[in-house]
Amino acid sequence: MLYDKSLALHPMNASSPLTRVRFAPSPTGFLHVGGARTALFSWLFARHAGGAFVLRIEDTDFERSSADMVTGILEGLRWLGMDWDEGPFYQSQRLDLYTHAAATLLESGHAYHCFCTREELELRRASATEAGTVPRYDGRCRSISRAEAARRLEQGERAVVRFMVPREGATTFQDAVFGPMEFANAELEDFVLLRSDGIPTYHLSVVVDDLDMRMTHIIRGADHLSNTPKQVLLYQALGASLPVFAHLPLILGPDKTRLSKRHGATSVMAYKDMGIVPEAFRNFLALLGWSPGEAAKRPDGPDREIFSTSELIEMFSLSGIAHSNAVFNNEKLAWYNTEYIRAYDPARLLPLIEDEWRQAQYQTSRSREEILAAIALLQPRARSLKDFSSAFLAYFGDEFSIDDAALKKYLSDPAVRHMLAELGHRYAALESFTEATTEELLRAFAAEKGIKAGALINGARVVLTGQAVAPSLFAVMLCLGQQRVARRLEAAIHLPAA
Ligand code: GLU
Repeated sequence: MLYDKSLALHPMNASSPLTRVRFAPSPTGFLHVGGARTALFSWLFARHAGGAFVLRIEDTDFERSSADMVTGILEGLRWLGMDWDEGPFYQSQRLDLYTHAAATLLESGHAYHCFCTREELELRRASATEAGTVPRYDGRCRSISRAEAARRLEQGERAVVRFMVPREGATTFQDAVFGPMEFANAELEDFVLLRSDGIPTYHLSVVVDDLDMRMTHIIRGADHLSNTPKQVLLYQALGASLPVFAHLPLILGPDKTRLSKRHGATSVMAYKDMGIVPEAFRNFLALLGWSPGEAAKRPDGPDREIFSTSELIEMFSLSGIAHSNAVFNNEKLAWYNTEYIRAYDPARLLPLIEDEWRQAQYQTSRSREEILAAIALLQPRARSLKDFSSAFLAYFGDEFSIDDAALKKYLSDPAVRHMLAELGHRYAALESFTEATTEELLRAFAAEKGIKAGALINGARVVLTGQAVAPSLFAVMLCLGQQRVARRLEAAIHLPAA
């Protein structure tokens, strides 16, 4: 190591776990699906290895970074159940470290001061484009001697620090996903390390931090693949050995173009707002570009797709990462969501539902026991947690709305409404209120009135639940309780006209 690590701001000692992985978001936007998938793969990898998962906020773009975005990113990670062992570290608080590294690189002759102004660079870029060549910095300030550069800086001239990319040869590295990579050095320009205001570029800060934080594996999106040769050169110039790079294939929308807002929500928290169970989203994300291979195979049917977090941790490996891009499939996510909602113990679903209620400023009037029974009854039919704060409200209190179409379909006949009200009286007087007795009563009542039991069942369902579809009517009655059932049926005559 050529540079002095004494400036490191965080504690690090020899007992640091062997495998060290980081998630390094730039807080210039929300935690999006791609970022969350990168974080998840890094987290699973760290947990699998019993290593450390480090969170680092890359906030050196002061204009575009914001504290709100940081909060949102942390919230997204927490929602998905990812915990970190160290950090969050903020690059904005570590600027000295990067300046120091740049000074070391200047000292060792791997970097130089460049005095070209923005206008000059732009003019050259424009003429290169006009001539049909790739605009690339031509390295003209390489020839300025160190003494000369020092004199010009002293006189107040502004300069950036550029890395001196070898003119010949190639830069190579082994990517854990994409295999051996090779980039001709002639294709890489002398990239900027430090801007004239002393702020580091991504290339410098990322390498300095990954070294300082002793990262062993760099797991990130394949959009960074072309940045990697520059960073490899920096590692080499700093006399450091390379971490393992693993670049993740991109996530595409159903039309096979890169996932973007055009395809719907890209922010992770938008999925929470849609009523997705976090574990379902995590399971879905884990299989977006990774496969457990043989472990998912079943001799007698399709591959397994539902995996608990501990199974994911146990099975995760870089070798299972796909080489081809992954496609984000909304129907698949919806499928995961229903599967998770269905499989959960009601008590486990309750806090998630309560969160929905809090957001909707809804307060239930029922006891915990009643709520759990209602959840158990409803969960096989739920498609989203949102259902519990919308279509299912009739089960949790007396404030709910009646679906217009259901009203029209089953309650437009005033005779049916009157009969339902009378049925309500009968239920009020029923001695033992069970699924069997409620059904018996309704059928006997229908026979007595000469009406089809089905007409009363359909009407009662709408009156009791507000919906045309619901679990078995008599199970619903039991769930609501005798008084509530009687009251709602008696009120059938007061419902708005269909
Ligand atoms: N801050 C970079 C990003 O959000 C991190 C890239 C990396 O992991 O090296 O894309």
